[in-house]
Amino acid sequence: MSKVAVVTGGTRGIGAAISSALHAADYKVAATYHGNDKAAEDFTVKTGVPHFRFDVGDFNACKKGLHKIEEKFGSVDILVNNAGLTQDAFLHKMTVEQWRQVMHTNLDSVFNMSRLVIEGMRERGFGRIINISSINGQSGQMGQSNYSAAKAALLGFTKALALESASRGITVNAIAPGYIDTEMVRAVPPDVLDKIIARIPVKRLGKPDEIARMVLFLASDEAGFTTGATFTINGGQYLV
Ligand code: NDP
Repeated sequence: MSKVAVVTGGTRGIGAAISSALHAADYKVAATYHGNDKAAEDFTVKTGVPHFRFDVGDFNACKKGLHKIEEKFGSVDILVNNAGLTQDAFLHKMTVEQWRQVMHTNLDSVFNMSRLVIEGMRERGFGRIINISSINGQSGQMGQSNYSAAKAALLGFTKALALESASRGITVNAIAPGYIDTEMVRAVPPDVLDKIIARIPVKRLGKPDEIARMVLFLASDEAGFTTGATFTINGGQYLV
């Protein structure tokens, strides 16, 4: 029987590529999103993957959202914590709201969603949790003390939960993408983006599919010995 996968922020950008790849590989996929109804509807029409709207930073909203997903598909076997956003500012100009918004969406979300699926995974003796971090959580980035902190925290979370879960058939891994061609990156001013690309050894942005392929591997039964790891996919821009 097909396994059930939830991809947060699965209707656009990297998440959409992940949802599509899992769907094509015969998983039952639920793609979540927050506010962009049009993008979510277009994505569902194009791929046949259903969308579920809730704020992943809100524990009770996640509980209700997951309940709806499980009513439709059954228990969650694979969780991809992908939803994220940036609110950039140098720290001396950063507002409390910018700090909290980034922590809420990039970090609280990972606790919320993982906490809600982990007990079931432990009971069933199988699970895959894949956290989408960032090159900027590894290297740090000016103007992103909030985002770099949240994305670095995901790496510690990944390792701790991997250790707690290893004996229960659950793997927990992180992917740290470099600059990938999505709306998040297209929002960067063109002159800044040109400078970023010049610093990437392969001289281009990554493609969302290049992240989705790693997710497919990590979600598979064959990846059972791979846990607690961080996979950097960044065109050689930052070598860990
Ligand atoms: P996009 O901005 O293209 O898409 C973000 C997705 O997350 C959307 O589906 C959005 O929903 C959803 N989302 C945002 N906030 C919430 C929320 N509070 N609750 C539920 N869903 C939410 O992002 P990318 O595809 O570029 O990035 C995906 C992940 O990869 C992020 O975690 C990002 O930090 C990380 N990353 C991206 C890199 C890049 O170069 N693009 C590089 C490194 C890491 P909606 O459509 O409703 O807004």
